[in-house]
Amino acid sequence: MNRIKVLSEEVTNKIAAGEIIDRPVSIVKELVENSLDAEADRITVILENGGKKRIQVIDNGRGMSEEDALLAFERHATSKIRNVEDIIRISSLGFRGEALPSIASVSRMELTSRDGENDTATRIELEFGTIKNVGKVSANKGTDITVKYLFSNLPARKNFLKSEQVEFKHISDYIHYQALTFPGIHLRLLNNGQEKLNYPAAADRAQRLSAVLGSGFYKQDFVKISGENELISVEGFIGGLEETKGTFSDYRYIFINGRFIRDRIIIHALRTAYEPFIKKYRIYQQGKTPPYILFLNVNPELIDFNVHPAKLEVRFRDPHLVHSFTKATIVQALLDYQEDKFKIATEKFGHIYKEGDPTMLEKQITAGKGGRKADKKELKQMNIMLKELYQPDLFRQDPLEAAGRSDVSQSGQKTVPSDLYLPPEEDVVNPWQLHNSYILVQSDDGLIMIDQHAAHERIIYERIFHRMCGVPAESQKMLFPIVVDIPPILKETVNQLLDNNPELLKMAGFSLKAFSGDSIVIEEIPVELGNWDGGEVFKDILFQLQDEYKETEDFRDSIAKSVSCKAAIKAGEKISKKEMLKLINDLFACQVPYFCPHGRPVLIKFTLTDLERKFKRI
Ligand code: ADP
Ligand code: MG
Repeated sequence: MNRIKVLSEEVTNKIAAGEIIDRPVSIVKELVENSLDAEADRITVILENGGKKRIQVIDNGRGMSEEDALLAFERHATSKIRNVEDIIRISSLGFRGEALPSIASVSRMELTSRDGENDTATRIELEFGTIKNVGKVSANKGTDITVKYLFSNLPARKNFLKSEQVEFKHISDYIHYQALTFPGIHLRLLNNGQEKLNYPAAADRAQRLSAVLGSGFYKQDFVKISGENELISVEGFIGGLEETKGTFSDYRYIFINGRFIRDRIIIHALRTAYEPFIKKYRIYQQGKTPPYILFLNVNPELIDFNVHPAKLEVRFRDPHLVHSFTKATIVQALLDYQEDKFKIATEKFGHIYKEGDPTMLEKQITAGKGGRKADKKELKQMNIMLKELYQPDLFRQDPLEAAGRSDVSQSGQKTVPSDLYLPPEEDVVNPWQLHNSYILVQSDDGLIMIDQHAAHERIIYERIFHRMCGVPAESQKMLFPIVVDIPPILKETVNQLLDNNPELLKMAGFSLKAFSGDSIVIEEIPVELGNWDGGEVFKDILFQLQDEYKETEDFRDSIAKSVSCKAAIKAGEKISKKEMLKLINDLFACQVPYFCPHGRPVLIKFTLTDLERKFKRI
C-alpha cells in the first residue's frame, strides 16, 4: 500500500507559506525530522565543510518503497496528512510534504531507501529538482539521503552562507537539542571525516541530560519539575535558589512536542513563578531569568506550529491554560525544593558542632584575641591557621585516600609534610575566620564561605519569628528598667504596634510599658540583644521596623528582621573557633540557612570542581 498521498488543493491551501531552506541546518533539520517520523532509532549526520559542501543523513527507520520514494518528491506529497482535520490533529514533526522537493530543487540529491517489504533499495538521483536516475541497489532497511552542490543554482543564496564553523555550530546545536529531546535515539554527527558527537541511546532523559550537559549538571543547583494533566505535561529542570554558576546558568531550553521553541508565554510563566522567590531571596539579578530546560507535551489539537517559517515559535489555542499550568508546576517544584533544602542542610551539617571540644588550636587562637601588633605569638598563630586552611583534606574528597598516603609516597609523589596537623575524620569541620568577617569551612565537596553577620541575622530572625509563632520567649530581665524616649517620627508605628499586636513584642522577648505619651519603659529584652547599649538599640530597632513594616505589612516579620539585624554580630568582629562552630551549627539548624532575612546570600560554595577549574586542572 502506498503511504504517501498527494494532498488536495484545499489542504495545500490551508498550509502556511513554504518551507524556507536557507542554510545547511534547515536541511539537516528536515531530514532528521523525517527520520524521526519514520521511527528510526539511529540517525547519523555526516557533513563536509559544516554542511556547505555535503550533507548526508542516514537512518534505520521504516524506509520507502520505490513508489513512495518517487511520490515524496512531488510537492505536497506526504504520508502524514489526508485531510484538513489531520492538519489540526497532526503530531508528527514535519507535515507539509514540501521539504524533500524544496531541498531537491536547490541541490543535487541522492536518496537510497528500503522499506521492510522489499529486499532491494530504491536509489533516486536528482539535479536541482529534476529526477535524473532511478535504480535498485542493495542497502539496509532505512533511508540514506545525500545533499550536495547546495544553492549552486542560486549563487546569491550560496554567498549568503556563513563560515564553515558557523554553519557547523548551528547544526551541532540542533543535534544537541534533538539529543535532549529524544533520549532513546542514537545520534551521531561527523564533519570532514571526524566524529563530533556520538550519543548512544540513553536509558532515560536523566542519563541523556548528563551525557549532553556533562555529569556536573546533577551537582548543580537544579530543581526537577514535573506535572501532567489530560491536555498538557511539563517536565524538566530549572535553576534552584542558590545561583547556578558557569555555563549551567546559560541553559535556557524549551521543547514543545519534541521541538526546540522560543516561547514567550512559557518564559513569562516561568518568570512569574520565580518572582516571589527571587524577591524573597534576591538571587537572580533583575531581568535575568534562571536557567531552565523544559519539555512540554501539549495536545496537538491545542497547538499550531506553522506560525514561524522555521517552526521556532508556536501558537497555543488556549495560552492561558499553558501559562497557568506551567506556572503552577514550577511554583510547586520551588516550594518542595525550599523544604528539601532544609532537610538536606540539617542532614549534612547537623552533626558538625560538638560542644566542649575545643582543640588545642582553638585555645591558642582565642588566647591571642585582642592583640594589636603582629608579634611573634600572633605570627605563629597565623601560621597555624594557614596550615589549618591548607589541610590536605580540603582538596581530597575521599577520606580513605588520606589514610593511604604512604602508597602515594612510594610512587614518588609528594607526600604531606609530617608536621602538618591532620584532623581525625570526624573533626573535618575546622572553621577559619577571614578578615574577621567571613567564616571558611570545608564541606563534603568543597569549601563554604559564610558571611558571619548574615548568618547570625538568619539565626536570630528565625528564633524571634518562632517565638512570635508561639515558641516560649527567652528574655533577660533588665537590672534596672530603662525609659526610652520615642521620637515623634516613630510614634505612629509604635502605637499601631502596641494597639494591634500588644502580644507580639512580648512574644519576641520584650517586656514594655507605656510610660507617658512619648516614652516607654523596658523591663525585659530578648536574650539575643546582649549589646543593649542603654536602650539606644531599641530606637534603631523601631526605626528599622517602621521601614520593614512598610514593605511587608507583617509585624512578626518586621520585628524579627529588625531585632536580628541589630543583635547580630557585625562584620569585622573577631570570634573564637568555638563561636564559629556554634554559628555554623545554629545556621544549619535554620529553616532557610541559605539567605539572610533580607534575602542576601548567607553562604557561597566553591565545589572542588570549581577550584579545579580555576587551577586549570580540568
Ligand atoms: P513531510 O515530512 O511533511 O511529510 P517531506 O517532504 O519531508 O514531507 O517528506 C515527504 C514524505 O516522504 C514523508 O511524508 C514520508 O512519507 C517520506 N519520507 C521522507 N523522509 C523519509 C525517511 N527518512 N524515512 C521514511 N520516509 C520518509
Ligand atoms: Mg518532513
